[in-house]
Amino acid sequence: MSQNDLFKKVIAHSKEYGFIFQSSEIYDGLSAVYDYGQFGVELKKNLIKYWWDAVVYLNENVVGLDSAIFMHPKVWEASGHVSAFNDPLIDNKDSQKRYRADVLIEEYIEKQEAKINKEIEKASKKFGDSFDEEKFRTTNQRVINTQEKIENIRQRYVDALNRDDLAEIKKIIIDCDISDPVSGSKNWTDVRKFNLMFDTRLGSLSEEANKIYLRPETAQGIFLNFLNVQKSGRMKIPFGIAQTGKAFRNEIVARQFIFRMREFEQLEMEFFIRPGEEKEWFEHWKNSRMDWFKALGLEDSKLRFHDHDKLAHYAEAATDIEFEFPFGFKEVEGIHSRTDFDLGQHQKFCGKKLQYFDPDLNKSYVPYVIETSLGLDRLFLMILSASYCEEKNEKEDGKIEERVVLRIPDFLAPVKLAVLPLVKKDGLPDIARKIRDELKFTFNCHYEEKDSIGRRYRRQDAIGTPFCITVDHQTSQDETVTIRYRDNMVQERVPVNKLREIAEEKVSMKKILEKLNK
Ligand code: ATP
Repeated sequence: MSQNDLFKKVIAHSKEYGFIFQSSEIYDGLSAVYDYGQFGVELKKNLIKYWWDAVVYLNENVVGLDSAIFMHPKVWEASGHVSAFNDPLIDNKDSQKRYRADVLIEEYIEKQEAKINKEIEKASKKFGDSFDEEKFRTTNQRVINTQEKIENIRQRYVDALNRDDLAEIKKIIIDCDISDPVSGSKNWTDVRKFNLMFDTRLGSLSEEANKIYLRPETAQGIFLNFLNVQKSGRMKIPFGIAQTGKAFRNEIVARQFIFRMREFEQLEMEFFIRPGEEKEWFEHWKNSRMDWFKALGLEDSKLRFHDHDKLAHYAEAATDIEFEFPFGFKEVEGIHSRTDFDLGQHQKFCGKKLQYFDPDLNKSYVPYVIETSLGLDRLFLMILSASYCEEKNEKEDGKIEERVVLRIPDFLAPVKLAVLPLVKKDGLPDIARKIRDELKFTFNCHYEEKDSIGRRYRRQDAIGTPFCITVDHQTSQDETVTIRYRDNMVQERVPVNKLREIAEEKVSMKKILEKLNK
C-alpha cells in the first residue's frame, strides 16, 4: 500500500469507526476543525494520561496547572505574539489558492533532497556491496550540484526569515521556479505577513480596548502563574509546571487532516532553571522526551530529532521530535531553550518582579526556561498511522479472511476488553454482562451481542481492542471463557476469575512508566 493510500485509509477509518469527525459536518464542515468521536476521545484521554503521569508524577519537581484560555491582552504583546507571530503568505493569482511561502520553499528543498536520495539509491543498486555513499556524494557531479543548490537556497531563506525580508522570500520562490502545486501556475502575488491569533471581544462593548485573544499556545498561562505556583507550592529551582489544553491558530493553509488544525490541543511543560544550566537541561529534556516516544513501542526508525535552522523570537536553541507520517517526517513536539525571555518580558510589561530567590546562591534572578511542547492531535495521528494494518489470514478451512486491525499499544487502546456472548440466548448474555460489570471498574470494557462472533471480532480489531472474551455454553458449566488476542488472533480457554489479572498485566500503563523511570 502506498503511503498516500495509507493516509487516505486512516482518514476514512477514523470516521467510519468513531475516532474523528469533521466539525459541523451537517453544515458541510468547518475547515481544519475536528471533533473526536466515541473511541477518539478515549484514545485522547489515554494519551494525555500517559504524558501527565510521565511528566508530572514521575518527576518529584514537576507540578500541574490548568490556566484559563483567555488572558489579559498585554500578555500577547509581552510574549511577542502580537508583533511576531506571523506566517508569510503568498497567493497564486491564477488558481486563487493561498500558501505559506516558507512551506513552499521548504517543500522545494525536500524535493531536491529526494532527488539526491534517488541518485544514491540507483547507484547503490548498480554497485552493490562495493558502493561507498560518502565517496559518491563527494564525487558525483549531479549530486554535488544539487547539494550546492540546496545549501545556497537554505542560506538565502534563513537570512531572509531572520531579516523579515518578504521581497527576498518572493524572489527565492521565483528563482527556484516554484509553481502552484495545484494548477502549476507561477503567477504569484507579493509575500505578506499574516498574524495567526484569533481575537474576540470581552464584555458587551465592541471597542478596540476590549479586544482579547484566544491563546495560540498554553505556555503563557504557565509563565503568568510562575510565582503563584512557586510560592504556594514552595517550589525550589529547578522545577517544572505542566499543563494540557486547547490552543487556537488561524492557520493559513490547513491541510493534512488533524496535523494542522485551527483549534488543537497542546501538552506543554515549562522547566525553570538557574541561568547557565540551560545546556544540560536542554539535553536532559531532549533525551527524556525521546525516550517517552520510544516507549510507545512504535518503530524507532520513524522518530528523529530535527534541529531548527531559524529560531523563534524567544528561543536560544530548539529541536523538534519528528515522526515519519504517511506524508513524510514532520514535527510532533518542539523542545525549546527559551532563556529568561518570557518571564523577563512579563516583568517589563506588568512592572512587577518575576524573580526567584535562590537560597543556595543567596541571590535573586529571573529563571531560565526549557520548554517541551507536544501537539496532542499530531500524537494521535502518529498513533493511528503507525497502528493501521490491513491483513490477509488463512483460516482453518483454507479460506482467506481479510481484516483491518489497529495495533494501538495495549495500554492506550480506547476499549481494553470486549465481552461477547456467543449467542443471544440460553442465558449467555446475562453471564457476559455480569463479567463486564465486574471488570468495568478496572478498564473500559464493552459488551456486544449483535452480529456473528466473527464480525464482532473484526469490529473490535478495527478499533484496536486488545482482548475479546467469548462466553459460550461451556462457561455456565465450568466458569471458563475464551480469550482472543487482537494481534495474533490466538484463542485460549481461561477461568473467568483469572481475566482481570491476565488483562491488567498487559494493558497496564504502570509497566511502561516503570521502564521510563529507570
Ligand atoms: P509548525 O511549524 O508545524 O506550524 P510550530 O513549530 O509552529 O509547528 P509550536 O509552536 O512549536 O509549533 O507548537 C508546539 C506543538 O504544537 C507542535 O509541535 C505541534 O505538535 C502542535 N501544533 C502547533 N500548531 C498546530 C496546529 N495548527 N495543529 C495541530 N497541532 C499543532
